[in-house]
Amino acid sequence: MNIYGIKRSDLEQYFIDINEKKFKALQVFEWLYTHRVDSFYKMTNIKKELQERLDKDFSFDMIKIAKKQEDKLVKKYLFKLFDGNFVEAVLMQHDYGLSVCVSSEVGCNMSCAFCESGRLKKVRNLGAYEMVEQILLIEKDINKRISSVVIMGIGEPLDNYDNVLDFIKIINDAKGIAIGARHITLSTCGIIPKIKELANETLQINLALSLHAPNDELRSRIMPINRSYKLNELIDTINEYILKTNRRVTIEYVMLGEVNDKEEYAKELASLLKGMNVYVNLIPYNETNHLEFKRSSKDQIMKFYDILKKNGINVTIRKEFGSKIDAACGQLRSKEVEL
Ligand code: SAH
Repeated sequence: MNIYGIKRSDLEQYFIDINEKKFKALQVFEWLYTHRVDSFYKMTNIKKELQERLDKDFSFDMIKIAKKQEDKLVKKYLFKLFDGNFVEAVLMQHDYGLSVCVSSEVGCNMSCAFCESGRLKKVRNLGAYEMVEQILLIEKDINKRISSVVIMGIGEPLDNYDNVLDFIKIINDAKGIAIGARHITLSTCGIIPKIKELANETLQINLALSLHAPNDELRSRIMPINRSYKLNELIDTINEYILKTNRRVTIEYVMLGEVNDKEEYAKELASLLKGMNVYVNLIPYNETNHLEFKRSSKDQIMKFYDILKKNGINVTIRKEFGSKIDAACGQLRSKEVEL
């Protein structure tokens, strides 16, 4: 097992199982995440025999940075995994700190029509350690700590639920990477049973829903997941989530020129979301070579924005970071593997 994929509570159980004190888990976590050592033999408050045992049971194997691409406020990383697969992460510098967008799967099965990542069907889930290591490697590369994490890279996080939850618990652990839950955002295309499950986890993380259309007809056309989980039921589920967690939910809406950006859709969206504790994030589409979708004009984005605003919906337009350096989901990866 890779040590970076183990939650503190599981490590405590491991120590109990081998007749050791459970507080050793805390010591190991401090070595791993405060001191960032890469061997049990450097953990000087752990006795030799136990170091040997740990070394036998856990590995420190790291994924590798295969490529970096950067622009002023953004740095994109391509990682090579042990089995030769690639995933990406993006580091962004905001006025409030550094954030990283991590991938959760190799490929994606959701097949959203406009998304580059989904051109490769899911090959496998990422292990929690492969998500934790994306962050550790970026922090090491820039020699700084990051302050927030968004799970919005390649993959559908709720389709890799257990590993993503372990990942969240490890980075959120005060003795782990210590990223506050309110600084962690999980973005989903809307897998209803898993949103319900997440609502019961009592995590204070942010949930973002990729909505992208205000009705079933249009949404099913661009997001096949909508054929399984219809819009009304999805909105009910989000309302339940808000009620249970008392957290505001982000609604993502990617602006696809002449597809979902008409004024009538803005009105429809406003009435769909009326009274909900949500805010809408309009995302200028990142065009890719392989897909025919176009970005909405600035003018159209502003019109859409104004209609939402006038109808009492909280709305922002996403700041753009990566379009110059292929930061749209999956673009760097798909160049590397020549899809
Ligand atoms: N599967 C998850 C998380 C990964 S996608 C989800 O669907 O939310 C992260 C966000 O980027 C989603 O809102 C997705 O619809 C959007 N997206 C995908 N391709 C994009 C592109 N080329 N330009 C802008 N946003 C894109």
